[in-house]
Amino acid sequence: MKALVWNDKHAVSVDEVPDPKIEDPRDAIVRITTTCICGSDLHLFDGLIQTMEKGDVLGHEPMGEVVEVGPEVRNLKVGDRVVIPFTISCGECFFCQRGLYSCCDKSNRNKELAEKVYGYSPAGLFGYSHMFGGYQGGQAQFLRVPFADCGPVKIPEHLTDEQVVFLSDILPTGWMAAKNCDVRPGDTVAVWGAGPVGQMTIRSLFVQGAGRVICIDNIPERLEMAREGGAETINFQSEDDLGDKNLFDQLKDRTEGRGPDACVDAVGMEAHGTSPGEIYDWIKMGLRLATDRPNVFRQAIQACRKGGNVSVPGVYAGFLDKIPFGAAMNKALTIKTGQTHVQQFAPELLGLIDQGKIDPSFVTTHVLPLEAAPDGYQTFKQKDDGCIKVVLKPWETQTPGKVRQFASEHKPLAENDPRLPELRGQAPGNGKDNTPLLRKI
Ligand code: NAD
Ligand code: ZN
Repeated sequence: MKALVWNDKHAVSVDEVPDPKIEDPRDAIVRITTTCICGSDLHLFDGLIQTMEKGDVLGHEPMGEVVEVGPEVRNLKVGDRVVIPFTISCGECFFCQRGLYSCCDKSNRNKELAEKVYGYSPAGLFGYSHMFGGYQGGQAQFLRVPFADCGPVKIPEHLTDEQVVFLSDILPTGWMAAKNCDVRPGDTVAVWGAGPVGQMTIRSLFVQGAGRVICIDNIPERLEMAREGGAETINFQSEDDLGDKNLFDQLKDRTEGRGPDACVDAVGMEAHGTSPGEIYDWIKMGLRLATDRPNVFRQAIQACRKGGNVSVPGVYAGFLDKIPFGAAMNKALTIKTGQTHVQQFAPELLGLIDQGKIDPSFVTTHVLPLEAAPDGYQTFKQKDDGCIKVVLKPWETQTPGKVRQFASEHKPLAENDPRLPELRGQAPGNGKDNTPLLRKI
């Protein structure tokens, strides 16, 4: 099969690799119909996550059709359409039973590597280094899905790939980021980062009851997309937006002098900027004295109102320097973070998509065949050509180019199809479908 392979920092290629096979009775093999490039993939592309090896297949936002199931997978059958959570989770351990799927105790095959850095090992992740299990990723024509009786979310026939593929990661990630803000009706939340995760966070915050969202970035088209989602925006490099104030004072002014009720860091370890603190982070990272550039996390702690919540969906890898923890402690902040517990949120979100309350497909700016994925990485990284989210089609050959709509291989039912009223509302999140998410033990 064809797959997107990591060779080295800034060097990925589409190569022929062996087809995956069932290795465990709880595995399934999925033929991937749609898959995406994530901001988290850029950390791998930029060589910032350790324990990558030449030949590793990347990708953790896939969906497709089940083509083979192991003997212990009873909830799926050949032909089912599924979205695959990026977190690999057993469904049985102490953590999965509490809904903390990204903390699964069983799925990381190389947990001793992670334990050395993190004390305890988080879950295995698709296509995300050997420290996270060394699993092949989903930017490929086929994917082996371990614990397939816990992860994949079955997709009803009337929904398209375009509507549901982001259930694999960025939609639940935005949703969990918003939940971690513990929003009360009318709250004002500041969101740093207008990338795909920031965009999903904005929409989730409004669904969860926020009154105002202020989004901070410096990429005009991303800020425009944030405004389309109802957010106010601040371009942190624009004199028009800042006037004679710095970002902290702008946020203070816009929140009656108190600061936002919650602050979301949807940027993570590769924050950019030109303030002295940011330059200091760049230099230390360049000298390999630091693993992360945590400037946005610092700003979020500083800007948050007393007693507020700081939610960190942005990925960090190692040991963060110069964090104003005195401010966090003395202002009584709550800080919540984590790789997303996708399996906990995906059914509820599928229900919201089915009811038309959330449509995450707006974020797609580029649809490319898998063969063009190396260009897709460059375009997404450089934010060229208005790129916000790249979706890959593993079985297409010609390049449709930049589009907002993409042709789903799956043909949804026509709007006047008599079966549609009955099918709508059957997604698991609507509580009418008993598809078990947890494996019975
Ligand atoms: P992205 O790279 O497309 O978006 C990041 C955005 O942050 C960009 O628009 C960039 O311009 C902006 N930015 C950079 N520096 C900034 C600054 N100083 N102030 C304000 N904005 C700044 O990536 P994405 O796909 O949206 O992902 C965002 C983060 O979320 C990444 O760290 C990614 O790894 C992480 N992520 C986490 C999870 C999870 O499970 N927690 C899941 C998916 C992605
Ligand atoms: Zn992702």
